Amino acid sequence: MEQKSERPRKHDGLTDDLGIYLHVPFCVKRCHFCAFYLVLHNRQRVETFLQALEREIALYASQPGMRGRTVSTVYVGGGTPTVLGSGQLATIFSRLKSGFSLSEQCEITVEATPESLTEQYADFLQQAGVTRLSIGVQSFDPRERTMLGLSGTMAEAISGVKIAKQAGFSNINLDLIYGNPGQTVQSWEMTLTHALEMDPSHLSLYALSLEKGTRFYTEFRRGLFEVMDPDHEACFLQQAETQLEPLQLSRYELSNWAKPGFACQHNLRYWKGLEYLGLGPSAQSYVSESRYGNVSSIEHYSKRLVAGQLPIANRELLTQVQQDKERIVFGLRLLEGVPIDWVRQASQDEVWATSFTALVKEEYLFQTDTGVQLTRKGRQFADTVGMRLL
Ligand code: SF4
Repeated sequence: MEQKSERPRKHDGLTDDLGIYLHVPFCVKRCHFCAFYLVLHNRQRVETFLQALEREIALYASQPGMRGRTVSTVYVGGGTPTVLGSGQLATIFSRLKSGFSLSEQCEITVEATPESLTEQYADFLQQAGVTRLSIGVQSFDPRERTMLGLSGTMAEAISGVKIAKQAGFSNINLDLIYGNPGQTVQSWEMTLTHALEMDPSHLSLYALSLEKGTRFYTEFRRGLFEVMDPDHEACFLQQAETQLEPLQLSRYELSNWAKPGFACQHNLRYWKGLEYLGLGPSAQSYVSESRYGNVSSIEHYSKRLVAGQLPIANRELLTQVQQDKERIVFGLRLLEGVPIDWVRQASQDEVWATSFTALVKEEYLFQTDTGVQLTRKGRQFADTVGMRLL
């Protein structure tokens, strides 16, 4: 059967359905691999952020184009959203619910560090209507946790996940990292075993990537460690496949595994070319055929909003050709691949069609009458494939 082409439904230049990403830019410390925009938690900065965020929500909510749109996913990420007090997070939810029309089945995800999940806080999140928790465990190996610069202990990592389950969360994602300096397939196997003992509905397994501005990047430049080569990294993925498959956790995206019915609906928006609005410093949006991003610094973000302006730093209106290419590149991250009619549409650009054909010949892509997917080799070099198709 031919895969259905899922083109956003247009309504006054906008689709009816929307996702919201809300960036909470605070952490208690910066992990050694992390390059996200964030600052260390500080009461004054939190106040500045919350007041500005309230203004940003109100500004968008007053836009005629936003009225009548149904929000079907909300993703509160960061940073560490759970460094906010329960009262502060409750106020954010209340503003979102009064400013936007959240669907009854709205998936509401909150990212948390395991050590921030006390029984009281997890109960609050349940009662506040959070439907999904994404817990940044990263590793269950004490030595690796120290090396990664994580703030909680191994015991806290285990108890945070248990507390979330006891509070009644059935939709729980655990973030884990592989390819860390000094990590062995054996220690990765142990981390996966600990994770699977907790019966999560979703796992995000990320290969360590060296990002500028991180402590790891500086150490790498000084020659203090080597990055893992792709073949060795593939052994870690193979180990994950071996342990996850019997437990019905299937890989549905390059870095994501889920039990049936538990794929992250919000993240699927990114890979399917559907619209999302980003709120908070550095948050990115894709609305009405434009990609745009907010200013990063909390101070600039706040100043713009106090002046009654949206804190947008840059905006790009995508041409139809760009949109056609982008949805293929993002869509190929999904293991199901993309429908063949997307490829036919993009192939009207001859240069693009030549790159695509070369990638099929070189066995990075597998094409059938109905769709296109990355091959095993293509999945290993997905970033290169993406660059050749943009
Ligand atoms: S807790 Fe998460 S967001 Fe904060 S520094 Fe660590 S990895 Fe980055």
